[in-house]
Amino acid sequence: MKQGTPTDLEQFKGVGPRLKEKLERLGLCTVEDLLFHLPLRYQDRVTVRRIGSLQSGRESLVQGRIRDCRVKFGRRRSLITEIEDDTGRIVMRQFYFSNTQQQALKASHWIRCFGEVRRGPSGLEMVHPEYTAYADEPVDSSDDINRVDGDVPHLTAVYPATEGIGQPQIRRLIDQALEHVDSVAEELLPESILKANGFPSIADALRQLHHPDTATDAAGLLRFDHSARVRLAFEELLAHHLAAWQSRRRRGRQKARLIEPVGTLWQQLESKLPFTPTAAQQQAISEIRADLKRGVPAHRLVQGDVGSGKTLVAVAACLDAIEAGYQVAVMAPTEILAEQHQVNLRNWLQPLGIHVAIVLGRQRVRERRATLEAIRTGVSQLIIGTHALFQDEVEFHKLALIIVDEQHRFGVLQRFQLREKGVSDGYVPHQITMTATPIPRSLAMSLYAEMDVTTIDELPPGRTPVNTVVLSESRRDDVLERIKSACARGEQVYWVCPVIEESDVLEVQAAEKTAETLKQVLRDIPVDLVHGRMKPADKEAVMNRFRSAEVTLLVATTVIEVGVDVPNASLMVIENAERLGLSQLHQLRGRVGRGARKSFCVLLYRPPLGQLARQRLAIMKHSNDGFEIARKDLELRGPGELMGTRQTGLAQMSMADLLRDQPMLPMVRQAAETLAKDAPDRATRIIRRWIKTRMELVNV
Ligand code: ADP
Ligand code: MG
Repeated sequence: MKQGTPTDLEQFKGVGPRLKEKLERLGLCTVEDLLFHLPLRYQDRVTVRRIGSLQSGRESLVQGRIRDCRVKFGRRRSLITEIEDDTGRIVMRQFYFSNTQQQALKASHWIRCFGEVRRGPSGLEMVHPEYTAYADEPVDSSDDINRVDGDVPHLTAVYPATEGIGQPQIRRLIDQALEHVDSVAEELLPESILKANGFPSIADALRQLHHPDTATDAAGLLRFDHSARVRLAFEELLAHHLAAWQSRRRRGRQKARLIEPVGTLWQQLESKLPFTPTAAQQQAISEIRADLKRGVPAHRLVQGDVGSGKTLVAVAACLDAIEAGYQVAVMAPTEILAEQHQVNLRNWLQPLGIHVAIVLGRQRVRERRATLEAIRTGVSQLIIGTHALFQDEVEFHKLALIIVDEQHRFGVLQRFQLREKGVSDGYVPHQITMTATPIPRSLAMSLYAEMDVTTIDELPPGRTPVNTVVLSESRRDDVLERIKSACARGEQVYWVCPVIEESDVLEVQAAEKTAETLKQVLRDIPVDLVHGRMKPADKEAVMNRFRSAEVTLLVATTVIEVGVDVPNASLMVIENAERLGLSQLHQLRGRVGRGARKSFCVLLYRPPLGQLARQRLAIMKHSNDGFEIARKDLELRGPGELMGTRQTGLAQMSMADLLRDQPMLPMVRQAAETLAKDAPDRATRIIRRWIKTRMELVNV
């Protein structure tokens, strides 16, 4: 009884104006939207697992006899139901339960539960599973994973959280949408690709993913290597590549200021530096110079480990632009980093007669007015700032180049805003972004396909790797001894208190308390505190005192994570290290080991350490190489988090996973190339299908 395809979801059974509105809020407006609202994962609610074979962390269906059911009193009252089959025993734990529920769970009765298995204080348990109790043994039990069971779908799709819409409801809607899949889901992959990879058609793939039937390879779906899933992941990756290429091509048609490197200013600076730039720095500089004289906007990512000297590379580009008569903006993610750039860049650039300005969030009105005036009239040549740079009141004179430092800390939107702002007389500013979150090259090429990538793969000579120790919090006294002896040798120390709760207020409180305690126990050592909620002037004052070694122990929140450069600091203590991401730990640790001295990093953790946490801290202990750490981190937890929207500035993908699907990337790139050339319309439709509203962002 298939009629025409509904154009309005209200034509669906069970959809009224209220549900329609909720769906729209989730971006589900058409039948096609529903079809491409893809499952996150699956539940096997059919196969009964033997208790002895259960693994913690897995959602499973179990069935057994109730041995005992009683209320346990403790810190929290709970109802404990012990269940056994002939292979083992598991506990069902409920914190919320009624008398009726309790009475229905009679010893020697049978029960079936579906839920996540966890390791509890007394063996395996399920907390608040879905369950049904039976007086007699339910008959259809079987251990056979391939059991064919009438029309019961073998696997149940689980969808991404849909606020206010339950899973069964979303399933019913998608089932209705599937009735129209043949007419709605247009086949966009070329026949040759489908054939070469053994991919199913788009309609078949969607049917199998949403509604696996008994013929679907269930194990394959659960393992993510089912051809339906791979096919959609391929198409999604293709969409991202095509979008990146479109944006590249668009950029190729835009105009940017021509910056022919004269190099006089750079030579003047170079002759005064106490060191020679590394070969990798020089290579990066020449790649950037080649970009800047092409007359189209450059968009280059410079990635290099912490301490690889990215600032100097950026400065070379700034000098070329300034020498050609233009302004340059340097955008940093935090005020502390912006201020530090100001200190360092002034040191380098003022002797060359260059005017450096800084724009922060909160500045005195008079000072601010003068700064803005100098920027507007072109007196200031290099302008440093946080995102405050793209406030309306900031007007540039002739902005030709934007440097975005630590780009992973900014969203796409913020970078875009600054670029927009810099457009004048039809010229789009060049953009160089720098990051110390290194990722493997093949991933970088996909993830940042709209940019050119330069990698600084060498550290300046003479750096000694930081020696990292992992210690339990209970060893604080040892740590204090280390601090005393470092300070006695004239060295300086960071003590970092990272975010423990999702609140920077609490973080600040923790840091304040730590600073107080340390002041008391380390009486002869000048201790000070810096955190994100301080006034800019106060922060700057503290950082200056630390730079001049007036303060020897600096207690800080993670505000110092990026870029801060005080070469005399040789010891860093990081609390709650087990809670931080590895790239963040690596960034933090990069604040020490910047001078010639042997440096140490102490990672304090709160026991007990889980297995994953132990492995992660071991990686930190054994490696100082940002690329290697990033790779191992990826292996341990998958790239989802590392490449979250915030870090990469790219939209999250729904089916594809860059790490898992890495082997496919060369083929995806090739397909993108062919499609963009031979079938641009189809290419656009693929982008639309997968990127939709995010398109304007990806296309910046
Ligand atoms: P990052 O890449 O982490 O931003 P920075 O640019 O802050 O690193 O450089 C770290 C330190 O190394 C700075 O003190 C900088 O002056 C110094 N530096 C940069 N290049 C060299 C070099 N070629 N030789 C020695 N020291 C260098
Ligand atoms: Mg830096």
